[in-house]
Amino acid sequence: MLAAQLPGPLAVGAEARTTIAGAESNVAIGLARLGHRAAWAGLVGDDEPGRLILRTLRGEGVDTTHAGARPEAPTGGMLRERRVADLVRVHYWRSHSAASLLAPADLAPALDAGARVLHLTGVTCALGPGPLKAVREAAAHAHAHGWTVALDVNHRQRLWTVEEAGRALLPLLPHITVLIASDDELPVVTHALADRPEGEERAVGALLDAGIRDVVVKRGGAGAAFRDRDGSRHAVPALHVPVRDTVGAGDAFCAGYLSGLLDGLPPEQRLARANTLGAFAVASDGDWEGLPRRDELPLLAAAPGTTIR
Ligand code: ATP
Repeated sequence: MLAAQLPGPLAVGAEARTTIAGAESNVAIGLARLGHRAAWAGLVGDDEPGRLILRTLRGEGVDTTHAGARPEAPTGGMLRERRVADLVRVHYWRSHSAASLLAPADLAPALDAGARVLHLTGVTCALGPGPLKAVREAAAHAHAHGWTVALDVNHRQRLWTVEEAGRALLPLLPHITVLIASDDELPVVTHALADRPEGEERAVGALLDAGIRDVVVKRGGAGAAFRDRDGSRHAVPALHVPVRDTVGAGDAFCAGYLSGLLDGLPPEQRLARANTLGAFAVASDGDWEGLPRRDELPLLAAAPGTTIR
């Protein structure tokens, strides 16, 4: 990713910083910062951006043993434009990228290595039939082996329509343990269900009926909600933080939720940790750069303007 440093239209030229971006890699970094063992599996090009991605992931402590570098296609790219002070526009170059070549065989070594949790996102599903098949087979494998399978719907309307996403994600649902979606993304998965439930309450109920164990709803500045098949429900407000850059908040949230799950925390505390990571993401620049180490988790409780000496 090239991220323009100052507000203004990219079309007139801008100084930009090279960094990396991606929903799954953001989650992996978030988990690694908190001290969990995390691995990222996928494809990059055999090129400088690909090397930057793998090097950054390794530098953050993410295992890239099962990541592949393909000579026949470039690493996908994105340009992040801060069009005006508080409005970010992201431009993608994903077609024919190395990641769009992903096929089930590319994930086999990572799956064979085993894990407690498999985290998937709708972004990879949208990259093409090969990536969708790879995600479906990975979910089926993980489910069959008793892992927790988490899916962040992460709908990208520039990649596919709500109808296409719904049709593609529906067959995944029987393998998903934890479904994470923004409140406005719930219809993406539920409109493909036979009874097309309307409203958040019914949509969440329908997903639980479809076999999901936990449904977690991200509500931006309002925090998050949780409901599970056993009837437990929780809503936890967001933290009050100055908003710098909201991109990556959803991925940070997922990392926090999964961290809580791996630590065996009860649902309310999982949501609180998820909100804490979301708050770190919105209160710092960059998609993942500002995510906390474990010892930094309590930092946001400090009064605004605090100097720690
Ligand atoms: P994105 O796709 O941009 O990463 P998202 O739409 O998936 O974001 P949001 O619901 O916007 O996800 O945000 C995820 C979480 O981040 C929220 O549930 C909340 O915990 C935290 N968060 C988001 N906005 C704010 C805010 N203004 N203040 C504090 N926390 C926030």
